[in-house]
Amino acid sequence: MKSLPAIHVHKFGGAALADAEAIRRVIAIIAGDDRQKVIVASAMLGVTDELVVMAHTAGNAESSSAAIDALQQKHVGVVRALGIDDKLLRAELAKMFEELKALFPRLAGRHDFPSALSDQFLSYGDRLAARILAAALNTTGTRAQFVDGIEVIRADGPHGNATPDIEQTMAAAIEVLRPLLDHGIVPVVPGFVGRSREGEILTLGRGGSDLTATVLGRVLGAREVVLWKDVPGLLTADPRVVPDARLIPTLHVREASELAYYGAKVLHPRSLIALEPGTRIVIRPYANPSADGTEIVVERERRQGARRTRRPVKALTAISGQTLVTIAGNGMVGVPGVAARAFGALERAGVSVSLISQASSEHSICMGIPSTASDVAAAALREAFAAELARHEIDAIEVRPDLATIAVVGLGMAGTPGVAARLFSALADEEVNIVAIAQGASELNISVVIEGSDAAKAQRAIHHAFRLGKIGGGTAVHPEHADVVLLGFGQIGRELTMQMAHRSAYSADGQARIVGVVDRSGYIFDARGLSAKRLEALVDAKTARTPLSSVRRGVRATADEAIAAITSHALSRPILVDVTAGDTVPVLVRAIERGMDIVLANKRPLAGSETDARMLAEAASSHDRRLLHEATVGAGLPIIDTIQKLAESGDQILRIEGSPSGTLGYLLSEMGRGTAFSVALKTAMQLGYTEPDPRDDLSGMDVARKALILGRLIGFSGEISDVEVESLVPAPLGEVPLEVFLNRLSDADADWEQRIREAREAGTVLRYRATVTKREARVGIVAVDAKSSLASLAGTDNHFSFTTRRYRANPLVITGPGAGAAVTAAGVLNDVLKLAGSR
Ligand code: ADP
Ligand code: ASP
Ligand code: MG
Repeated sequence: MKSLPAIHVHKFGGAALADAEAIRRVIAIIAGDDRQKVIVASAMLGVTDELVVMAHTAGNAESSSAAIDALQQKHVGVVRALGIDDKLLRAELAKMFEELKALFPRLAGRHDFPSALSDQFLSYGDRLAARILAAALNTTGTRAQFVDGIEVIRADGPHGNATPDIEQTMAAAIEVLRPLLDHGIVPVVPGFVGRSREGEILTLGRGGSDLTATVLGRVLGAREVVLWKDVPGLLTADPRVVPDARLIPTLHVREASELAYYGAKVLHPRSLIALEPGTRIVIRPYANPSADGTEIVVERERRQGARRTRRPVKALTAISGQTLVTIAGNGMVGVPGVAARAFGALERAGVSVSLISQASSEHSICMGIPSTASDVAAAALREAFAAELARHEIDAIEVRPDLATIAVVGLGMAGTPGVAARLFSALADEEVNIVAIAQGASELNISVVIEGSDAAKAQRAIHHAFRLGKIGGGTAVHPEHADVVLLGFGQIGRELTMQMAHRSAYSADGQARIVGVVDRSGYIFDARGLSAKRLEALVDAKTARTPLSSVRRGVRATADEAIAAITSHALSRPILVDVTAGDTVPVLVRAIERGMDIVLANKRPLAGSETDARMLAEAASSHDRRLLHEATVGAGLPIIDTIQKLAESGDQILRIEGSPSGTLGYLLSEMGRGTAFSVALKTAMQLGYTEPDPRDDLSGMDVARKALILGRLIGFSGEISDVEVESLVPAPLGEVPLEVFLNRLSDADADWEQRIREAREAGTVLRYRATVTKREARVGIVAVDAKSSLASLAGTDNHFSFTTRRYRANPLVITGPGAGAAVTAAGVLNDVLKLAGSR
């Protein structure tokens, strides 16, 4: 038999297909390889996530069809930007979007995910991208043809997580792909999708395009499968959690499989099962095609073993959302078959067990399972052991949720003593409690189960203990950069953007660069950083009221989804800046869990319920993340900084008094100069000193929030309702519509005039003041001596005085401008640079 030329499979992940620019790079990579090749395309960046969200929210017909339209625009936009003039492609895309729209009504109200219907729906992401890539290749001179994945990959198993059938897939691949290859045509196959014996569309599980590529590599006897991703290769740890993760130049397929199985998102968990000797798998960065990446090899086990003592551990990974189920009882001792029955019951219930551990006393067996399966698993076990439970031979089936499994992996661990000891002492040093331990007989992997909230800290500690940051492959990220994501793109968000973009050498020094911007509608993201020009364009678009989801490459998403999507990339020391005015605590906690430091201009997270504020602080400390919030009081003035420095130096703050509202300060000082209340307020509105509804300022609530934030820093315990607040909203105008309120402002002029006059006659002036101690917090109008420093405040200046043990007789005073977008953004920028400069 004549030997066939070697085949190469190239798989491009979502990030490699993010937009027209990325796709051009992909085309260059393909064109630069003149060997026989098959291309596997994943969905464009974020598209599968979007489809998942749409499938779950299909009940809302209006927003759903808007979401589909946006998705269509995104794909059509890319086709246009690539300059593809192909009637057939346009018709195909239009048809596919019609099909998607037709599926919607059928998804509405369904809760059975995954299902045949949801699989069909999700399959469009990868199929759309593959069509576009095939057409793009043809217009640039590479002969290519789209071949649908459902024609090639035959699979069985559950919807949402099917497994390819090698034999049938081989037959199909030879029939469909071979003739194309023989004619020098490059097949472009969508990843992630396959078809069942019954003809239904199946998906292979998230990240399934990796599996499509390795399976095609296997059935075609490929020499090489290259997975092009947004990381330099397989790294010693998830770079989102461990910033000094390093590239691993080569590793054995068993090590890589173990990492994939134990949660390393870089590879689909089953993608390496199909690998045969003779095929090498390489993970390479699409952004730097000449870099070597990571080679996953099948044969070199012996050589690896020889180096065992030097580097027993190669990498680590974590799976969160784990639950430990324990079967315990005296009646189990010496009774054979308990474990087998437990696994049998779980298998029948469709629950996969990631870890098992049994004490040698045989008193208990515990098993790690995904938390999503914990109810099903507990029920299955209770049923299987009903008799033993009734006889009290088994005490109980215990379920412990919110855990994480960390796996430490390396072939060199076999026979190297001291690995476990090093692992445990690293965790002990960080005060991480180990809930369960398991080591496979292969000694390829040691797994520990710990509290989910300890997972990030534990990974960093283990990475450090095994010196994984020192291996030769280079760093994953650029530790000199901090990647900034803005949550909120209103006045302050945009001002901050401009201040950052206009710092000298914004992109060149790159110390802090904006990679993502999130608003209520969705987000914009680019892992390489958004250029100053692009940021300016975004600011212009948003100022013209275009939501981010509607600008070029905008993605529709909730804030939570946006953060999830953005942090699924290898970001460098990511910082989330909250410049919204919303209740963002859940989003912030999630961001912290995903490795982000936080900067707040938004007061609500710290001035909301005490439970929320504490939860936020605890999330930050347990994940070793920092939370700065200078701009929440006094805009750009160093108030929080001063409080911290006083505390650090051993001083104790007894009382803070201040006038922390630029708006009310302006209003009162204008009225003091004889301006009527209605006129002063309208001027303040025109100058942008007030909230859109100035009653939010007049009510004193904004000052009350600042007082609460300051109070909590010096030991005040209580809620916003415990702050005594005096409102300046004229009583009859509290509830009327804004327009009516503004028309009737002058009704209050006479009262104010009298109040001001009486104060003046008594040698005082009126100021709105916050007073905070450990025991009380109150805000309201006070008449202060006309000669005091508070009285001399002008315009929007803020004033804070700190009475401390050391500054008792003569308090420490800070005064300066405290309102307006420019100074607030400057305060935020300061915090950002502080974080960027210091890790
Ligand atoms: P694809 O674009 O092919 O779908 P993925 O996004 O699925 O690629 O996988 C790459 C991501 O995996 C990286 O951005 C990184 O955040 C994450 N990751 C987690 N663990 C590792 C690891 N050990 N090595 C490399 N990347 C990792
Ligand atoms: N598009 C699919 C997903 O997001 C497959 C893949 O990207 O590998 O899961
Ligand atoms: Mg993937």
